Amino acid sequence: MTAAEHQADVLIVGAGPVGLFGVFACGQLGMRAMVVDALPEAGGQCTALYPEKPIYDIPGRASITAARLVDDLLEQVAPFRPEFAFGERVTGVVEDQDGTFDATTGCGRRIRVRAILVAAGAGAFEPKRPPLPGIEAFEGTGVFYHVKDPETFRDARIVIGGGGDSAVDWALALLPVAASVTLVHRRPKFRAAPDSVRKLREASSLGRIRLAIPRQLAGLEGCDGRLTGVTISDMGGMQETLPADVLLPFYGLSTDLGAFADWGLDAGTATIPIDPLTCETCRPGVFAAGDVAGYPGKLKLILSGFAEITTAAHAAYARVFPGKALHFEHSTTKGRPGAEQSAAA
Ligand code: FAD
Repeated sequence: MTAAEHQADVLIVGAGPVGLFGVFACGQLGMRAMVVDALPEAGGQCTALYPEKPIYDIPGRASITAARLVDDLLEQVAPFRPEFAFGERVTGVVEDQDGTFDATTGCGRRIRVRAILVAAGAGAFEPKRPPLPGIEAFEGTGVFYHVKDPETFRDARIVIGGGGDSAVDWALALLPVAASVTLVHRRPKFRAAPDSVRKLREASSLGRIRLAIPRQLAGLEGCDGRLTGVTISDMGGMQETLPADVLLPFYGLSTDLGAFADWGLDAGTATIPIDPLTCETCRPGVFAAGDVAGYPGKLKLILSGFAEITTAAHAAYARVFPGKALHFEHSTTKGRPGAEQSAAA
């Protein structure tokens, strides 16, 4: 196997709360999971859309922030040593004659598994790209849609685009490491937490940050992937080029379920139909759970997704261990067996 080839019992598409719990549900049955997500980190909607909001309807937790729920799920699945591939979309799947699936990602990774659990939510999250000519040439070198480690941008001249929480929070967070920070927003008002906006305006009045408002991004300068400037314009079309090493566009995320169009799953624009008794789709061996799974009476709740992915894992067992009887046991009896029984090991 090359570095781009992987083998597991089950492929889980989506590392949202439901996909993460799927690692646990599979692990408890001795099935080793590989998880792929288009986002650069785990948590799906919880991480991308509302990390600081408290959730009140997780059983046994009177209140838990979405970010904490994701952290706890990651802790819960850690003993099963799942393999994660972030920042990649699962694009295609073919099935061998022996029933093994060969799934591929947009980065050319190949994953061979016996069953697939689709926990894709509303579809693959992708950052919204500003319509700047030639932006692709700078992506990953001068243009970044996510910040993993602020230190990466030490002493850089940073331009941030956007007016929401991500733009404002990162503008503030990068101030201590950057050579300069300019925040470009097409409206005079920001759509971020009031306290963050207050801090931002304070930093601006102290000359620590430049607020280019109302302005919009108009172009990029540089060559061979090295960014040297970001052109902005006012609403009258008057342009100015800011010297810059890094552009961080934070214009939100879009979702796309298109990857499943050719999978033979009868996928609609918003959901994949399943049999709620097994969570199997119309394609044997491919299961769906969480927001992406559709059936009469469906509730798009995290707790429903947890139950569905557990049902899906039980149903997938027969594909992973053909002919082996599955004896139901509570977790109190079973403990945490880890991945010792994995068919893929
Ligand atoms: P998601 O969280 O959407 O995760 C799916 C993941 O799959 C994404 O990360 C996506 O990038 C990835 N993906 C999709 N397609 C691909 C592909 N082809 N390749 C690779 N990766 C892919 N629910 C509650 O129960 N209680 C609440 O109080 C509550 N509050 C909410 C508040 C807000 C503001 C929002 C937006 C939602 C709320 N929800 C709440 C809903 C809850 O967040 C969803 O039900 C839950 O996130 C669904 O989990 P999931 O794992 O099915 O999908």
